[in-house]
Amino acid sequence: MADRMNPHWVLARMPPEGWPVDADFAWREAPAPSPGPGQMLTRTIYLSLDPYQWGRRRRGVEAPGEVCHGRTVSQVVESRLQGFVPGDFLFNTNGWQTYGLTGEGISTFGYMFPRKLDPSLAPISSAVGVMGMLGLTAYAGLYVQCAPRAGETVVISAASGGVGQVAGQLAKLRGCRVVGIAGRAEKCAYVKEALGFDECVSHLDPGFADRLRTACPEGVDVYFENVGGRVFETVLGLFNSGARITLCGLASQYGAMGEDIVQSWKAAGDKTFSERNMKVYPLFVGDYVASHQDQFLAEMAGWLQDGRIRYREDIHEGLETAPRAFQSMLSGGTFGKTLVQVSPDPTRQA
Ligand code: NDP
Repeated sequence: MADRMNPHWVLARMPPEGWPVDADFAWREAPAPSPGPGQMLTRTIYLSLDPYQWGRRRRGVEAPGEVCHGRTVSQVVESRLQGFVPGDFLFNTNGWQTYGLTGEGISTFGYMFPRKLDPSLAPISSAVGVMGMLGLTAYAGLYVQCAPRAGETVVISAASGGVGQVAGQLAKLRGCRVVGIAGRAEKCAYVKEALGFDECVSHLDPGFADRLRTACPEGVDVYFENVGGRVFETVLGLFNSGARITLCGLASQYGAMGEDIVQSWKAAGDKTFSERNMKVYPLFVGDYVASHQDQFLAEMAGWLQDGRIRYREDIHEGLETAPRAFQSMLSGGTFGKTLVQVSPDPTRQA
């Protein structure tokens, strides 16, 4: 059989200060690898684009010339791993490439792989979104760490994004007053009208601080932090005594160089945290996979099926779109959970 070609993106250079540009990525083509004992070859269907990928590249975790890292939804093409057969759908880490190996000796980057997907439970694309990593992130941060009570005010930043849209709806299920923060007007409208948040305020609005204060007349009890920077500084003045924060991510800061962005964030908040007797919970979703993923997936499948949780995906067609879609996602250009469709999804074909 002729070689199966594997188009992919590599990191072209050590990224300089700031945000990604086209020159940070290089397109390559090579024959697809063959699976060894205990491995399988999988075809990428969906590639997840996530803000942390840029932080990772900026910190040098990924070296120039390496395939860009990314979580994926894939289908098994050849298997030498017991329990997996061609045709199975998986959540795995193929990265920004068309084919990848999964199984023994292949890094899982701190996650548990491979996870087989059941297309009858939810669309397979959601395994990198609401029915997977991002949903579990929202669930762990909100329910396990902050445990909001009915009537409390919960504020969610990047509210229309992959994590934010789920976190806010989970808070609504607990009977909280939920206030989102997002960018463009259409994102704010979606968060309020389609997702059912009580309010959504745009951080692009010149009157952002006043509008946020008005949206939280009884102060803020729980804050789900996704972006940091000016948004965080604005929320800071509104915390009630005993408020809790999930420090999930700092998407506005991932282009920074030469500073510890978490330390800077803590330094900005420290005085308020101690004066108001607050708790800050750093979050790494990988810490909750073994303990909470099964329960989370069962609950989320039910919420999706009965329509209590809704979600929006922004799917870009073709692996070649990945660098531009990634740049757009980091600057608020995409809308919903950002994905690239790398190859056809057989579960969505008529
Ligand atoms: P999103 O889909 O929410 O994309 C990021 C969004 O951040 C942008 O679309 C934009 O939305 C917003 N943003 C970017 N820059 C700014 C800015 N300067 N000010 C305000 N908002 C800004 O990403 P995800 O849902 O995938 O991730 C959300 C956060 O969760 C990230 O910080 C990520 O790193 C973190 N995360 C953490 C995990 C963990 O284990 N702790 C696991 C997974 C994700 P808008 O247009 O509305 O401004």
